[in-house]
Amino acid sequence: MRLWGRAAAVRRKMLCLWLLLLGFTLVTLALSDLFNSQRRDHSHQKPGPPRRPLQRIPNAPDLEVIVDSRDPALELGVDLAPLKSLQEDQLLFVPSAQGTKNLPQKKGSYKVLLPGANKDPRAPVTHGEIGKVAQLEGMEGELELSAVQKYGFNEVVSERISLHRRLPEARHPECLGEQYSESLPSASVVICFHDEAWSTLLRTVHSVLDTAPKQHLQEVLLVDDLSQHGHMKSVLSEYVSHLEGVRLIRSTKRLGVGGCHTLGAARAAGEVLVFMDSHCECQKGWLEPLLERVAQDRTRVVSPIMDVIDWQTFQYNATQWPVRGVFDWRLDFYWESYPQLQDKDPDSAVRPVQSPALGGGVVAVDRHFFQSVGAYDPGMLLWGVEQIELSIRVWSCGGTMEVVPCSRVAHLDRHHLPYRFPDQEQLQRNKIRIADTWMDAYRKIFYRRDTLAHFIRQSESPNITERLRLKRSLGCRNFHWYLTTVYPQLYLPQDRPTLSGELYNVGTGSCADYPRGPGPQVGPMNAAPCSGTGSQHCDLNSEFEVRWGPMGALCMDASGERVILSPCPAHRTTTSRLQWKFIKLSGQLVHQQSQLCLEVVKEGGFTQSGPRDVNTHAKTGALLLRPCTHQPRQQWHFEQLVAPKGA
Ligand code: UDP
Ligand code: MN
Repeated sequence: MRLWGRAAAVRRKMLCLWLLLLGFTLVTLALSDLFNSQRRDHSHQKPGPPRRPLQRIPNAPDLEVIVDSRDPALELGVDLAPLKSLQEDQLLFVPSAQGTKNLPQKKGSYKVLLPGANKDPRAPVTHGEIGKVAQLEGMEGELELSAVQKYGFNEVVSERISLHRRLPEARHPECLGEQYSESLPSASVVICFHDEAWSTLLRTVHSVLDTAPKQHLQEVLLVDDLSQHGHMKSVLSEYVSHLEGVRLIRSTKRLGVGGCHTLGAARAAGEVLVFMDSHCECQKGWLEPLLERVAQDRTRVVSPIMDVIDWQTFQYNATQWPVRGVFDWRLDFYWESYPQLQDKDPDSAVRPVQSPALGGGVVAVDRHFFQSVGAYDPGMLLWGVEQIELSIRVWSCGGTMEVVPCSRVAHLDRHHLPYRFPDQEQLQRNKIRIADTWMDAYRKIFYRRDTLAHFIRQSESPNITERLRLKRSLGCRNFHWYLTTVYPQLYLPQDRPTLSGELYNVGTGSCADYPRGPGPQVGPMNAAPCSGTGSQHCDLNSEFEVRWGPMGALCMDASGERVILSPCPAHRTTTSRLQWKFIKLSGQLVHQQSQLCLEVVKEGGFTQSGPRDVNTHAKTGALLLRPCTHQPRQQWHFEQLVAPKGA
């Protein structure tokens, strides 16, 4: 019994051992299978959404624009990372000629921006302004008014105009006979938009499709810079999907004008990029002359003549040739008529003209040149002066710019910008980047005329390391070269201490000023409360002229007893009528021709002002020439708001 019992115990042990061995084998097999299956999963990238490989942009190895609304570091107002490469899977991409059912509809890609101060340099629109032109009563007038407030132009009128309207011929007759090469480079027309009106956006697109020869038009690339309006969403996607040759990409982060253009450039396939505003209309034959000029020299950046669409009536107004792009010492851009050019040269009507700067409305540039010269400054946010920065950089770093007269595109000149700015200082911050990156010691001239920029600069430094590195690596020339070679017409202020600044009147506590408005500011001067912004800055130079205006192109002049501003003579031919002597001891400013003194005279005499007028009216008056006396209303001094050694 005990023997039997022992044998049974041994058998049980053996069985347990076998079972253990079997279990171990099974577990090992299962584990190894699991391990292998995980390896397989890895190699196939099963988990997570499918990702396209990160695409590198040809000839722009360092270009990346991150557009990801989920990354809080990329919110508007935070400095953008330097140029890196583009993550395509973070874009909404709508290829043309595809049914809408295939459209990726990414949720949450539209964000409501934080409301901020509406920093609009242009005045708010009034009923009167609309009424004057539209002459509409009641409901319709109200509709138009709210359309203007929303878009900055009369969208009600725009809606009534065909999306295929034809512009009246405005080209010079000689342009019509011009022959262009059959083998012009292909163009990608990049149209960035943020909350553009439906009618103006689509009229822009159709205008390009209707006027650009198919063989030269690679694509129209619409880039939605985070629009908020409903019609910019699926309805637009649907519409665009039926247009051949039109693509739509959407950024999930507000990029601003420069960033949006850089994104469009990175996604464009054409040899030449044409950046076009989202409210343009093209004249027949506009594209070929631009492409030809770029094809002849790939470092040429070119613009058509920018005609003007009226924001109230949508009337087309042809711009008179010759015209070129310039900017002033406050870094504001203008199209300047340039009649000096129209000499006896018979070809001047069709010959392109070099231009110190180009506007942002329409610019054509070779894609590779654009990338190699540094695209747009990614540190410039939202809107403003990105085009001036591009202009200085193109010229200084080996390129040229010109306006091509046989190409005409009309741009809608709006009454005001329709979008809000995150703060009052964004535009100045963009300007500071230009001043500190490109203007060397000349930047002081800017800071004296824009004291807001000066004070911002005193409390914060722009991060321009990458741009300075770019400038060095491209071997760009300095601003002195730019001023003397490209833009010698720009007056160089002397800004000597005690002889420049605000012209302060001791007797009234006011400053010499002049009325501003459209066109050349020629007219009577006045005394006004001192602004402290730099807008009243003037410069008594070694020619004894008192130079005014952000270009320094206006001279203090006299007409009878009235002191006026008139355009300064272009070539050192100043007359005693424009010359003034400042007597530091007495503070008198003596007109050289008449030997009379500058005095503030209250218009209608110095009557007692009401209590509410004390601060303003008491400090206003006319500037007149009067026999010299020692009374305080003839005593002046130049107050420099920015110290000579200031930033
Ligand atoms: N734009 C943009 N993002 C912005 C601001 C503007 O894409 O944050 C677009 C805008 O829709 C237009 C172009 O950039 O197509 C230039 O802007 P805008 O026309 O307002 O400038 P302006 O012509 O008044 O200087
Ligand atoms: Mn525009």
